[in-house]
Amino acid sequence: MVVLGLYTPDDAYDFNTYVEIAGRRRWHKAAYESVVARAALLALDLNARGIRAEPLTFVDSASLVDLREAAVRAGLGTRGLNGLVVTREFGPRVRFGAVFVEPELPRDKPLPDYYCASCSICVSRCPTGALAPWGFDRALCTAEFDPSPEMLARQKREAKPVTPFTRLQCNLCVSSCPIGKNRAVTWWDGSSACEPPGVSELPGGFETLRAQRI
Ligand code: SF4
Ligand code: SF4
Repeated sequence: MVVLGLYTPDDAYDFNTYVEIAGRRRWHKAAYESVVARAALLALDLNARGIRAEPLTFVDSASLVDLREAAVRAGLGTRGLNGLVVTREFGPRVRFGAVFVEPELPRDKPLPDYYCASCSICVSRCPTGALAPWGFDRALCTAEFDPSPEMLARQKREAKPVTPFTRLQCNLCVSSCPIGKNRAVTWWDGSSACEPPGVSELPGGFETLRAQRI
């Protein structure tokens, strides 16, 4: 299995939008769609080289594989107090995807790093008490993508509506982490004097942070 990480430098990646069919809404998040698309492209490329490969879809991701555990075992980062994978370069600002590959691949090694020994910023910033030094209580986290009716009511009160079709759920445990927070990014400001950067000039994480095998 190959694990991919996509650098998500700001809130724009965390915007959720929905389509509504017969009264039911299906939410999408740009970061997840993007990493799934990249996994599909990698699988197609491997197929074209004669290697059997299948991308992990978003719908399957929870039931088939624990992507955070896979990312840790692939050496892309280590588990933080926020329950997320904290990478060396970008902290927890990374979303993961995967491609299943038929040939047996050599394994990469987990990192020896640990970033949370003298930090608990994410725990103190969590507005619901979902994060504590002893772990993460999913039932209290308002960023749940498939919420219970009670949590949905709370999300409707608290998730910031960006447009009538767009919401931004809590991501304080990501945005507050100091690891990778100051990573320099050159933004195109839209002026004619400033051209958008070419792909080769973007930080590595804009394409694919890193793909490693487990
Ligand atoms: S997303 Fe928000 S509520 Fe959920 S654990 Fe992170 S900081 Fe807490
Ligand atoms: S904010 Fe601090 S404690 Fe939380 S994951 Fe980042 S380094 Fe670890």
